Amino acid sequence: MSEHNPADVCDGAWQPPECTESLPCTGCGWCCMNYPCDQSLHRHGYTDRCPELRWSEERRRYLCAMASEAQGGAYMRAVQRMGKGCCAPSSPWREQVRERG
Ligand code: SF4
Ligand code: SF4
Repeated sequence: MSEHNPADVCDGAWQPPECTESLPCTGCGWCCMNYPCDQSLHRHGYTDRCPELRWSEERRRYLCAMASEAQGGAYMRAVQRMGKGCCAPSSPWREQVRERG
């Protein structure tokens, strides 16, 4: 479950208590575009789409810029449970990973 990059976007940012198994994050961006996390709200306020969400041409997926920061990146990855699975395993975007503007 945690074989992918720990800096992957919002990788398990939120998991409902009843969710005991999940799927790996594919970097589709659904969660961060629709439900920015607490750290995003703290830094940017309420936004339609998290400004920290960045499309990577190299990896062909979305990544979280905050998770890669030298200061605070490790904390961000821990509190957002990055590397622990997808927070929205039923999202249809998971299988349609592409840049969405
Ligand atoms: S919805 Fe799931 S697969 Fe898509 S970015 Fe969020 S955690 Fe990753
Ligand atoms: S700060 Fe990172 S984890 Fe949080 S919503 Fe934005 S891109 Fe997703």
